[in-house]
Amino acid sequence: MEQDYMETHKGDKENKQNGERRKRYMLDEEEIPRRWYNIQAEMPVKPMPPLNPATKEPLKAEDLYPIFAEELCRQELNQTDAWIDIPEEVRNLYKYYRCTPLVRAYGLEKALGTPAHIYFKNESVSPMGSHKLNSAIPQAYYCKQEGVKNVTTETGAGQWGASLAYAAKMFGLEAAVYQVKISYEQKPYRKSIMQTFGAQVTPSPSMSTRAGKDILTANPNHQGSLGTAISEAVELARTTPDCKYTLGSVLSHVSLHQTVIGLEAEKQMEMAGEYPDMVIACFGGGSNFGGIAFPFMRHNFTGEKKTRFIAAEPTACPKLTCGEFKYDFGDEAGYTPLLPMYTLGHKFQPANIHAGGLRYHGAGVIVSQLLKDGWMEAVDIPQLECFEAGTLFARTEGIIPAPESCHAIAATIREALKCKETGEEKVILFNLSGHGLIDMASYDKYFSGDLV
Ligand SMILES: *Cc1c(COP(=O)(O)O)cnc(C)c1O
Repeated sequence: MEQDYMETHKGDKENKQNGERRKRYMLDEEEIPRRWYNIQAEMPVKPMPPLNPATKEPLKAEDLYPIFAEELCRQELNQTDAWIDIPEEVRNLYKYYRCTPLVRAYGLEKALGTPAHIYFKNESVSPMGSHKLNSAIPQAYYCKQEGVKNVTTETGAGQWGASLAYAAKMFGLEAAVYQVKISYEQKPYRKSIMQTFGAQVTPSPSMSTRAGKDILTANPNHQGSLGTAISEAVELARTTPDCKYTLGSVLSHVSLHQTVIGLEAEKQMEMAGEYPDMVIACFGGGSNFGGIAFPFMRHNFTGEKKTRFIAAEPTACPKLTCGEFKYDFGDEAGYTPLLPMYTLGHKFQPANIHAGGLRYHGAGVIVSQLLKDGWMEAVDIPQLECFEAGTLFARTEGIIPAPESCHAIAATIREALKCKETGEEKVILFNLSGHGLIDMASYDKYFSGDLV
């Protein structure tokens, strides 16, 4: 028993023996996960099915084949297999940047004067600077396997588009990306990154699709939204041979791929000799949240653990805290299946906050069901508090976080300060979903007091 304990808690023991504190926990290549965790198979209440909007019948995997790679459609609706093998080619590409570090944020703890132990999983070390590549690689892989030649998608802040452009290039696919017009104009470097990897980038709404033309006819000054860009990309996939659509968030297969984050973190927390009392992540459509949370949540389902899971969303787009649970479309034009989710309505136009990746109107079906059933919580946080948190994190930990990730940091700081009041030594784990080095214009606005 003691021997086993020593083995599994080696990192912690070593720390104590050396009388020094360890900051980073890393896994060997061999220990990178070989399977993704499919939480749908183990949820006490399964998500309700997506519906065909015309017939209101539950969707079958085949119904999605015209839009997505077939294997991804099967993963999307798989409610039986808790573990899904990661193809060897995908795992080999993961090795380029995984495992990502688990870091103890001693600097932040000290600045806050909290007794809490704060850890973060650093997904910003991926070549594209965010967690999105974890799903872009398998999505491009399955498309290639199935003989697809072109992939298309939408992107808001540009993180997903950049990840897909890179993954497409790795597998010799052409990528066409619709970028929300306002971020195309405000974040020109993301467009440059996508073009560096050979993607064709179009600001949305555009005149190149029927959906885009309809939107522009109704409102010539439309600044674009994820909803408009999704409508255009889906239309392109439907009307172009050998072309499939891909999505960087919201859908269940995307969260599935992201579980490499939590599976690694579980092993790394064990090396640190701790288990999280709270797991926190920012929330756009739910993929980085699900990625870090689901592998830990399975121990709550069995009653073995009582971890709290907290999703942090912007006050400007509060679908989890203020949205309604109902069937709604995933896109503005109403092309997608009807999804059972917390939503602000598919016509919702969020204020132009800097966390572009968190401006989506709805939440994924898995997370929506989990929130409804009380397995997780949500908080919404105002933009200024997020940048304040991000700046403190940068100054104490040396990493400039993406505006999206600042929401997770702000939520973490709120909890750490509660620990300070009560004197509780809670263990908090949050996901650093990306770095903000291409978002410095947003920080500039914050420093000059122009941010609202
Ligand atoms: C896209 C993005 C998000 C939000 O998407 P989720 O699917 O909710 O994870 C968060 N952080 C970063 C850095 C992103 O690029």
